[in-house]
Amino acid sequence: MAQTPGQPIQPAQPQRGPGLPVPWEPVLSAAVGRPNSRDIDDYISRGGYDALKKALETMTPQDVTKVVADSKLVGRGGAGFPTGVKWGGTARNPAPRYLVVNADESEPGTFGNRYAIDADPHMLLDGMIICCYAVDIQQGHIYIRGENLHGFEVLEAAITQAYQKGILGPSVMGKEGFGVDIYVTRGAGAYICGEETALMESLEGRRAQPRIRPPFPIEVGGGLFGRPTVVNNVETLMNVPHIVERGAEWFAGIGNPACPGPKLYTISGSVNKPGMYELPMGVSLRDLIYKYAGGMQRDQKVKAVSPGALACQILPGDNLDIPMDTATLTRPPYFIPPFGPVGFGAGGIVVYGEEVDMVQIITNIAGFFARESCGKCVPCREGTHWMLDMLRRIASGAGRPKDLEVLRDVATNIAGRKTLCALGDFAVNPVGSGLRLFWDEFEAHVTKSSPARLLEPAAAG
Ligand code: SF4
Repeated sequence: MAQTPGQPIQPAQPQRGPGLPVPWEPVLSAAVGRPNSRDIDDYISRGGYDALKKALETMTPQDVTKVVADSKLVGRGGAGFPTGVKWGGTARNPAPRYLVVNADESEPGTFGNRYAIDADPHMLLDGMIICCYAVDIQQGHIYIRGENLHGFEVLEAAITQAYQKGILGPSVMGKEGFGVDIYVTRGAGAYICGEETALMESLEGRRAQPRIRPPFPIEVGGGLFGRPTVVNNVETLMNVPHIVERGAEWFAGIGNPACPGPKLYTISGSVNKPGMYELPMGVSLRDLIYKYAGGMQRDQKVKAVSPGALACQILPGDNLDIPMDTATLTRPPYFIPPFGPVGFGAGGIVVYGEEVDMVQIITNIAGFFARESCGKCVPCREGTHWMLDMLRRIASGAGRPKDLEVLRDVATNIAGRKTLCALGDFAVNPVGSGLRLFWDEFEAHVTKSSPARLLEPAAAG
């Protein structure tokens, strides 16, 4: 039973096969469809907060950080940074320290956090409190996408219950000298709020614009209120109680050894069953589309894929055996100059069938990034709008053949420039890769054979 309005959650079925623990057992989405799964008593009845109890009673903070490092958990938000290294680095810097949870999920095609929070908010709090113990933090903040009012209310209710049970407050589970407070804040309604330093600016009450680094968030001067800060993604922290409970070896044995563990994949576009599927990191694109997402609408061929929502380079649909994971898609041969890694982002996969007009798709994506540029850096602020203007002209059938070369030149000149955050590169990833893969389709839009020209002769003139 789906617990939010909109698309139903698609819980994955247990699978057996090479690279999968036998049997494979989803853990992050185990409560999906369960009545009262958000209630703290239900969470406790499923073994919830046992990992926190185990950590507090039998492990030192350093033990907890070590088991997370040994598990090889990497951040699920997109950068893929090793979580244990981040925690250890923050703990070495002077207190007070903060924990910030980035729940500002707002890229089209990415919706795993929304479902995970809705189904099991206490799993997130569990992971947060364990992190606070490991890094000696007394205050955690969840920054949730402003439009996700439902998720905000779910988290507020869960936090209230945790205080009532003594799991939050001045003495967590009765542990002397260890208290944690958690606050949840609604985001300011822009994509840039999900960039970690812009997020902290927003939490501090200012306009969300990225900060210059260094100092980095884990350092004095770089984090929340200028203090060393762990910034983690929702899904990253939801993995933590399972690692503490079942051990690093269990986690490291799931999926691709270079970035192991369970992953909440979200898949949308031209597939029959869009939704969220929990699978081992590194599942193939073929399995995702045909085994879980119900295959392609009207049996179309796969034309292309955005492997990590819109910010990644577009992949052609001719290799469906490619593993969908952070390690594979950020290293050669999936590191493609001058734009760099293809990228996996937060695992929001958008599939385009052969009926899709890629020029229209890329124009829509360019519109998103042009609207969401915060305007602080020239290459991003000006370049995204130049690209959008040209793409609109081409897509409408009014483009000129030389526009394609100019568009490629603009994209190449934004890529890798010294901008304050990665949005500049994100914006050129789909444009640059789209031109490389679908040059013929772009050319058709600037010649008489373009369907857009035939439909809109006035615009073409
Ligand atoms: Fe703002 Fe774009 Fe610069 Fe990022 S790259 S800080 S979004 S102008």
